[in-house]
Amino acid sequence: MTAEEKIRAMPKAELHRHIEGCVRVGTVIDLARKNNLKLPTFDPAGLDRIYKLRAPGASLREVLGMFELAQASFASYEAVERITFEALEDAYKKENIRLLELRYSPDFMFKKAGLDWQKAHDLINSTAVKFEKSSNMVCGLILIASRIYGVESAERTAAFAVKNKKTVIGFDLADNEADYPPALYKEAAKKLHEAGLPLTVHSGEEGHYSQIGETIRTLKPRRIGHGVKAADDKSGRTIELIKKSAITVETNPWSNYLTRAVTSIEAHPLKKFIKAGVKCTIGADDPEILDTHLNKEYLLAVEKMGLSFEDIAYTLECAAEASFLPADKKQQAVKELGFPYRGSTSIGVCRGEASA
Ligand SMILES: [Zn+2]
Repeated sequence: MTAEEKIRAMPKAELHRHIEGCVRVGTVIDLARKNNLKLPTFDPAGLDRIYKLRAPGASLREVLGMFELAQASFASYEAVERITFEALEDAYKKENIRLLELRYSPDFMFKKAGLDWQKAHDLINSTAVKFEKSSNMVCGLILIASRIYGVESAERTAAFAVKNKKTVIGFDLADNEADYPPALYKEAAKKLHEAGLPLTVHSGEEGHYSQIGETIRTLKPRRIGHGVKAADDKSGRTIELIKKSAITVETNPWSNYLTRAVTSIEAHPLKKFIKAGVKCTIGADDPEILDTHLNKEYLLAVEKMGLSFEDIAYTLECAAEASFLPADKKQQAVKELGFPYRGSTSIGVCRGEASA
């Protein structure tokens, strides 16, 4: 069996995936036709070239610009339901994912069409629940505050998450970190912590590594999205802080390569993090827009980033351990993923057991 076949067959876990980044090209076209939306072209191959980033050369800001095409697709409740279903279906069937955390920013996704947040969220949730019942994949929803929409939007989104905490497993801050420092979101984070909703924060995706330390100290997240810049701290203190804080880093290697957060895929610090004893997971971030999926990410990890299959297993254990899903769902996922569940709720499952 080749590495590729082995990876394809492997049951997987995904903690870092944006619904906004899961809209298929064909669906963008269908929904544009149905809702009388403008597109640069209705030709699938032509749109594919505009919609997907295949090589580095665009900044994170430009990549976010590509999301506008996806954003326009959320034109109706029917569209929201279809896109959610397809995101679940692709993860389950194409990537063999058995534990899936999907995240979305209500302000970003529902703004353009003026959809009612509650009605749209309930629809996303019921679609996920239905999918879970008809498959052996467990899933949960994380709500995102898009930093670029400002503090008021973040606080409104946090309040919405708290109100919906029965159907929301966690909260995230995403996009432009440099211009929107963590101190702005202290109040929102406090409310989320009080409500028992765990935080993950996009941090150290670009900019300076000191943002990661600031995020950890100010917002007390359980997980960090990306975190690649931690490797720039030559003193090793940022990596130490991540470890000491028992934080899991949700890495997204191909995304980091495309946004030039790393100079090459080989230069991605995932192996370095694992060697240092940091808890890490591997994610695809925005599979459709970034032209990726977990099979590709794992293969890159093994062939270009120096990970062994033991390291891959370690990232899966870390994912199960750090997932925000309730214990019963985690237990079910762990059975599917094929390693013994040691039932720890904080640290323990994935520390110091990877190959060096
Ligand atoms: Zn992300």
